[in-house]
Amino acid sequence: MSETYRILQSVFGHHTFRSYQEEAVNAILARKDIMMILPTGAGKSLCYQLPSLVMDGMSVVISPLLALMHDQITALSAFGIKAAMIFSMQSTQEIQETMQACRKGELKLLYVAPERLKGESFLNFLQTLPINFFVIDEAHCVSEWGHEFREDYRQLFRLKQYFPKTPIAAFTATATKIVEQDILHQLGLSAPLIIRAKVERDNLTIKAEYRNANGREQLLSFLSAFKNESGIIYTLTRKETESLALFLGTHKILARAYHAGLSTEEKNETYHAFLNDEIQVVVATVAFGMGIDKSNIRFVAHMSLPKTIENYYQEIGRAGRDGLPSSTLLLFSTSDIVEHRRRISEQPASEYQKVAYEKLGAISKFASSQVCRHQQIATYFDDAIATCKTRCDNCVDGEKQSVDISHEALKLLSSVYRTGQRFGLHYVVDVLMGSHNEKIEQNGHESLSVFGIGKDKTKAQWHSIGDRLMELEALKVGEYRVVSLSEYGAQIIKERLHVSIHAARLEVRAKASKKAAKVVTGAFELSIFEQLRALRLEIAKENSIPPYVVFSDKTLKEMAERLPQNKEAMLEVSGVGEVKFERYGEAFLELCAKLS
Ligand code: ADP
Repeated sequence: MSETYRILQSVFGHHTFRSYQEEAVNAILARKDIMMILPTGAGKSLCYQLPSLVMDGMSVVISPLLALMHDQITALSAFGIKAAMIFSMQSTQEIQETMQACRKGELKLLYVAPERLKGESFLNFLQTLPINFFVIDEAHCVSEWGHEFREDYRQLFRLKQYFPKTPIAAFTATATKIVEQDILHQLGLSAPLIIRAKVERDNLTIKAEYRNANGREQLLSFLSAFKNESGIIYTLTRKETESLALFLGTHKILARAYHAGLSTEEKNETYHAFLNDEIQVVVATVAFGMGIDKSNIRFVAHMSLPKTIENYYQEIGRAGRDGLPSSTLLLFSTSDIVEHRRRISEQPASEYQKVAYEKLGAISKFASSQVCRHQQIATYFDDAIATCKTRCDNCVDGEKQSVDISHEALKLLSSVYRTGQRFGLHYVVDVLMGSHNEKIEQNGHESLSVFGIGKDKTKAQWHSIGDRLMELEALKVGEYRVVSLSEYGAQIIKERLHVSIHAARLEVRAKASKKAAKVVTGAFELSIFEQLRALRLEIAKENSIPPYVVFSDKTLKEMAERLPQNKEAMLEVSGVGEVKFERYGEAFLELCAKLS
């Protein structure tokens, strides 16, 4: 057996490599620069951790977030791998100790924040170490075209200046072709191996629907499939995180709010309570989650539209990192788009602002589009995949639910045109409904041919149709929310184009769909799993580490199915390696014996 396979099994407890991992590991071992674009949860960490163990010397990992580094180090130490980090909040003595450990060759991996590389002295220190390769985690942060540009990442070009012979391995989950090129350029990678995986998370079910009122009924319906399972709910504002967490509490769902306005202490407490399965749900603003390494997150819900597809894809990517089926729900409304536009308009006019508008346009289209969701995301990231058929709402029930509104679209667009493209949607709908109000009278709009031609629909239905036309960019919203026709809107009138909408959006105050995507639980007995889980929690508490660091949900589920009775059988379970067996194996064997 080769060294890499031996370590894969004995240290990490995996029987096989996942797609692309072996390619990346071999390239790093061959001392090549590499750039890997692989979805969240696909297993990027192993691609550099494993070669680091095979190679002499140590590896330096540049990572953007403290929490991310911390989680990685906790996970590594559970595998018996020596790793440490250096960050600015540490005391000089702590930093000196870690530097000393590097000099003595005691560490395999050193995690540092990008700002460290600003200082000559730190670079000079690194030059004294036997560094086998550098790792750039979340490499998209280097590009202004990405969605999380970080000024400090711009320092990274210095690596190739100071270490021209040391390979660099760059990793990210999200990069369009432009961002990919920018990363290669900024880091100065030389003839790198580029590994770009298919953009598809095939264990995620994606669903997006129009938000009714505040969306809470829809959310509860979605959550009913996840008794006691972990999830994240994203909201747009801090206030909403708190009120939603309280609301969930009244429905016996253990939830806590997380946002940038909380003290560091409160944030840490919530973060750890979530990692340790003490609370079920975190209701958060985007401040939460980057780099979160909890593998058993079973669902991610968005209460409003994220700013970009990149953000959305990363956020939903936090579900199901263990590869088990997981679900996502996006609730959106036109008011979200208006709010995002307002926020963008407050930025100074710049290329960045233009990009922000374009990215918002893309996610708005994604939300309202009736094309396969997985395929849309893949297309956005310059990948081509077939429709998922079974893992998104559009494939499962999209066609069935689609209703032809070409005739209604014509009526509404004509009314916008006839009233002079000077009013908001409310006014235009009033004209369509034949309402007798003062303003309409003053403007003489009672005499228009379109006055009262929409009485067969309710006001709410006309608003849904108006929203749909905005999403399709047939209607534009200007200052003071005045609506006007776009070129496409005019084309719909002239060429009598087909327009459709999800039926549910025409059902006034339609009850949220009861059939929230169910998570497949598999063949194992829940009670056995629950008992294994309780043991895991106990061990985690004793060792002050998160439960999933002991064993992932996936490992426990396999253990519940197999109930191994001896060491050999236990090592067969994916995720159980020698080191973990040494630490926790006996306790689990004992329980498995009782349960069988
Ligand atoms: P990423 O960094 O790409 O988001 P991670 O490195 O955190 O993903 O890995 C996600 C999960 O996949 C982890 O729980 C990890 O243990 C698991 N994993 C990684 N490689 C393998 C493998 N070869 N076989 C089984 N599980 C794996």
